[in-house]
Amino acid sequence: MADVFDVIVVGGGIVGCAVVWEMTSYGYKCLLLEKNENLVSEASSGNSGMLHTGFDAVADTLELQCIQQTFPKMFGVLEGFGLPYNKIGATMVAWTQEQAQIIPTIAQRCRAAGVSFCTEISLSELYNREPGLRKQAQGALWIPGETVVDPWLTAISLAHDAKKKGAMIKTNAVVQNISRTECERQRIQVMTSLGQFTGRVVINCGGLYGDIVNKLAGLQHFRISPKKGQYAVYPQKVGHHINSSILPIPTSKGKGEIIFKTVYGNVVVGPTFEDSASRARPESDAGTIRRLVRLGESCVPGLEGCWITVGGIRSTGLSGSLGISDKVRRLVLHQHALEPSGPRRTGLERMDIKFVPPCHARIDDVLYTVTHPITLNGVWKPRDSRL
Ligand SMILES: Cc1cc2nc3c(=O)[nH]c(=O)nc-3n(C[C@H](O)[C@H](O)[C@H](O)COP(=O)(O)OP(=O)(O)OC[C@H]3O[C@@H](n4cnc5c(N)ncnc54)[C@H](O)[C@@H]3O)c2cc1C
Repeated sequence: MADVFDVIVVGGGIVGCAVVWEMTSYGYKCLLLEKNENLVSEASSGNSGMLHTGFDAVADTLELQCIQQTFPKMFGVLEGFGLPYNKIGATMVAWTQEQAQIIPTIAQRCRAAGVSFCTEISLSELYNREPGLRKQAQGALWIPGETVVDPWLTAISLAHDAKKKGAMIKTNAVVQNISRTECERQRIQVMTSLGQFTGRVVINCGGLYGDIVNKLAGLQHFRISPKKGQYAVYPQKVGHHINSSILPIPTSKGKGEIIFKTVYGNVVVGPTFEDSASRARPESDAGTIRRLVRLGESCVPGLEGCWITVGGIRSTGLSGSLGISDKVRRLVLHQHALEPSGPRRTGLERMDIKFVPPCHARIDDVLYTVTHPITLNGVWKPRDSRL
């Protein structure tokens, strides 16, 4: 007689990997079926890798319960497997007065959800924590505990550990039909592209295809409208511009576009929240990425990359010039992490200056055109009365 599995898990994203790991760890004989060649290749391969505290979840919901249960358990798993994570915290920033007025309500909602450690912080504390932010914030909320992980490694490690503990994991196994006619005897037949499997309980972890998988079993509880999210990704060398995940004030559409640092130090802006025509992995578009880049740079000026703007200096350009140059040198060295490629040459030598009529000056051996009326009028006779 063919093997009967206690549990058949359909779908090898983070949810399927977690479920097969949990069930196998507790002694269930498990089979995971994934339609793609690789595990973690649909929604779970495109998320932000953030372990949220539940600060924006609705109080008394199953979602919040699961998040709050995951949190301590996940740190045990990450430590146990030796996986990277960074408890970086998050800073929600209000950029307008209107947004700032909502912050106390959000803090109150966090406390109601049991996320009591969120605290409103002053602007001086904000800029102490996040000196790289544009100096136009109007208010902020500090959310400690928000953590970044490697989302692929986390999911794959759960599946790998489940496999080591006896789970069977099959990829390229498209579930095509499910027969529940022997449900009372706890016998469910799962027909796949690799053949038929029998299980006592089937767990649908089909992600964006969850409604289709249910339909294969003759169940029709819900319909999924796919969404997509796009990101702009910066290299690790700009990672020092932020110290926590920078959240906008959330809207009815969700958390909004975040500026965050991955567990490997890349700065990422996104995700967007867009309707998608397809459930398959969507393409990104250049216009949206450019908009995300502008958003990142408008909140964190240091993200402008190999670029420093000291254009538009008002009336003190001469008076402040050496201070500006000093500041620029420090920015290049510290913010852009660029060491000089040659030796220092900071000594001063007296200049040999000779004025050459009608409008030139020779300094050492180089001939310059005099362009300023103060010099022209001062060295030669006044040509007109205008400076
Ligand atoms: C842009 C974006 C950013 C996000 N950021 C975060 C974040 O930072 N933190 C967070 O907690 N959440 C985040 N999320 C949400 C999170 O990514 C999803 O909730 C999660 O990936 C869902 O996992 P899943 O396993 O249910 O689905 P999936 O990863 O889609 O897995 C489902 C699997 O089922 C398989 N499958 C489907 N049909 C069949 C079939 N017939 N036969 C066999 N296999 C089948 C699919 O191939 C797929 O591999 C984000 C989501 C998006 C879109």
